[in-house]
Amino acid sequence: ERTVPAAVGGARVEFRGLRRAFGTTTALDGLDLTVEPGELLALLGPSGCGKTTALRVLAGFERPDAGEVLVDGADITHVPANRRDAGMVFQSYSLFPHLTAADNVAFGLRVRKVRAAERRERAAELLDLVGLPQHADRYPHQMSGGQQQRVALARALALRPRVLLLDEPLSALDAKVRLSLREEIRRLQLSLGITTVFVTHDQEEALSMADRVAVLNAGRLEQCAPPAELYRRPATAFVAEFVGTMNRLPGLLTDSGLVEVAGVRMPVDGEAPQAREVDVLVRPENVTVSTAAEGDATVVSTSFLGSVTRVHVDHAGTRVKADLPSREATALAPGARVAVGLAPHPVLVAPRARR
Ligand code: ATP
Repeated sequence: ERTVPAAVGGARVEFRGLRRAFGTTTALDGLDLTVEPGELLALLGPSGCGKTTALRVLAGFERPDAGEVLVDGADITHVPANRRDAGMVFQSYSLFPHLTAADNVAFGLRVRKVRAAERRERAAELLDLVGLPQHADRYPHQMSGGQQQRVALARALALRPRVLLLDEPLSALDAKVRLSLREEIRRLQLSLGITTVFVTHDQEEALSMADRVAVLNAGRLEQCAPPAELYRRPATAFVAEFVGTMNRLPGLLTDSGLVEVAGVRMPVDGEAPQAREVDVLVRPENVTVSTAAEGDATVVSTSFLGSVTRVHVDHAGTRVKADLPSREATALAPGARVAVGLAPHPVLVAPRARR
């Protein structure tokens, strides 16, 4: 049984109106976001949307041009990095190559003049915590990538910070190690109650680990919500298409405020554009496909994904993706004539895109 040190608790972190430009590139364009005490918040978004810059501002490695960072209500915008109460883990193993695992973990304690005996004890406790009790005397080159990241995590926790910052810590690892470390980080984070900000461009990672996911786009917050809500009730077309898979189908707004798509009329969720011709966003699980000799659609391809099969269909020149239970998809070979249906539900609509 691993020893878990007494929970240190977590701080509340607030970004207020953060701006940061690099030359003509705007990395942060007025970011407002609050991370609640003890929560794991994932910063998710496409490359260049400002995730890493936001994290570096919180760590104190980067100064914002405008805006503030508050920790438990105190403005720390101008506090130097080494006096902030945060531990950080980076993508690439940033361990000191000439130090053993134990000495890497104890490095910050040494800088703070903690006595040798106590340093050894804390390093052993932390290596135990991350599942590496036997690796204290190993050097980084004698450990796997996953083991090195565990040591980096232990090192980040050594000073008992109240905020943990993770910048793509799993992206250099192979798939299997990544999955087990995901669970390990989450377990640790929950048991310590430490406020954690996790930068990732991997939506599955964000959705599976986080209490809430903040989706950034061009330096601004699009939406911050628990994973299921982000998926079921995306606030914007950007979020809808970035998180999970979406169909973008041509539709027409009717005078009664409904939208008609593939012959089905559905209520509009949120705001509708001014134009009558719009795109309607529909998840593949809300599309049905059934064999029909008189159908007006054709199966293009299928991919078996385990319990569901994704069927790609051509319907009047539009590609439609449908997820069907695999046992219902056995007859759907490429070329099969089918009918496409939509489960009636409130849908997001976006301005019609050029095709
Ligand atoms: P990625 O997933 O690719 O790491 P990101 O969302 O983390 O992207 P940032 O690293 O925060 O994005 O970068 C945001 C924008 O600012 C990008 O256009 C990037 O090129 C630019 N940028 C970041 N740091 C610097 C810098 N030190 N000098 C110049 N431009 C920078």
